[in-house]
Amino acid sequence: MQYYSTNLKAKQVSFKQALLKGLADDGGLYLPVEIPALTVDEIEAMREMTYPQIAFAIARKYLHEEVPDADLRRLVDSAYDYAVPLEHVHGSRYLMRLDQGPTASFKDFAARLMGRLMQYFLAQDKENLLILTATSGDTGSAIANAFYGLDNIKVVVLYPEREVTPRQRKQMTTLGKNVQIVSIEGKFDDCQAMVKRAFSDPELEYLKLSSANSINIGRLLPQTMYYFYSYARLTKAPGEEIVFSVPSGNFGDLMGGLLARRMGLPVRRFVVATNSNDEFPVYMDTGVYRIISPSRNCISSAMNVGHPSNVARLIALYGGQMDEKGNILIQPEPEKLHRDMYAVSIDDAETEKTIVSTYQDYKALLEPHGAVGWAGLNRYLETHPEDAECVCVSLETAHPAKFPEKIRELLSLDPALPPSLQGLDDKAESVLPLRHDYGVFKKFLIDNYHWA
Ligand SMILES: *Cc1c(COP(=O)(O)O)cnc(C)c1O
Repeated sequence: MQYYSTNLKAKQVSFKQALLKGLADDGGLYLPVEIPALTVDEIEAMREMTYPQIAFAIARKYLHEEVPDADLRRLVDSAYDYAVPLEHVHGSRYLMRLDQGPTASFKDFAARLMGRLMQYFLAQDKENLLILTATSGDTGSAIANAFYGLDNIKVVVLYPEREVTPRQRKQMTTLGKNVQIVSIEGKFDDCQAMVKRAFSDPELEYLKLSSANSINIGRLLPQTMYYFYSYARLTKAPGEEIVFSVPSGNFGDLMGGLLARRMGLPVRRFVVATNSNDEFPVYMDTGVYRIISPSRNCISSAMNVGHPSNVARLIALYGGQMDEKGNILIQPEPEKLHRDMYAVSIDDAETEKTIVSTYQDYKALLEPHGAVGWAGLNRYLETHPEDAECVCVSLETAHPAKFPEKIRELLSLDPALPPSLQGLDDKAESVLPLRHDYGVFKKFLIDNYHWA
């Protein structure tokens, strides 16, 4: 199985190469040349399977040439050792809670399997990697937790000293081992700029830097699995159709769903729910794609993305081509986009109203990202009453306890902490504070990291 770049200039590579490279040499994103299909029988068999068993069945379709079954099973079992609750809200509508992993966000699903696959391939070649990531909060903690304790990989996470919440900080700084957390006296953009400079610094090439960022193919594959899982648990008949609502920022989660559909999952429609960063809903309405810069600040902060990088993949999947700047060189087929997707933008006022009404009416507790998805689903069903009987699943991508202030303000209650976030307050923290100065950062890397 080969992977091609959405910019169509770089040569095709194996999964292992795509995983360890991240971005293709031509600046494009990797996609499988052929998307493996599952038969109706294979999908039906999932009704009797656990989450790790379903994850293995899917991963195998992509990886059977590169990872023996027994190894793959072990990696998947250790990545997915937590629950994936499906909560009935009313009628045929459900919430899928993707918030039970170690950092209580859906990013754990992708980061944990990607980390294990990277380590597996590195160990084969006796190679090492230094993962460098800048974070404004959630991504850094998911990466740090996912790579924690893995051999052959060290992790350095940079965060802006004053821009992360105490809880976000503690999710990173209480780890230790192969994970080094650095606070920078500056802003998120400063951290990002230092990381980017290190990547292009020839004097640091020997460190084998890698970014593990959201465009890596290794983060896409794991995001197909929970669509199959919820389908297997909630539908009854072979071929029965389902509706998913996906709160979207960088569109990686949605891309996982679209891939699942291409693999054979009977999805009637994806509701693509964005916050006020509405470049994609506007594109669906008008055919004109305009990036939003700077991105708009909304309470669903992990979705404040004005030019989602995975849109280039989405356009490629539908037969078009988009460059890194967001120019569409070849338009995809609009009828197919509209057949598969319904895009909607939900502003902060509606997000907050949705948190309040969903709790009052159904005792279902949402946080801002999941509320965007839920409000999007409601809008869809208002305009498509013919789908009211369909099983509908809205993705809840973070735990409400990660947003205690917002929940308290709207509902006057304190969401209970999930087990993964309990006890953080008592753990010892370790952080290295550095000035916003590339020279200082570079010296730190050179002094502390060398591969034997
Ligand atoms: C990252 C994130 C999203 C957006 O997911 P994408 O794959 O970037 O579209 C939504 N909710 C939460 C809580 C996130 O952390």
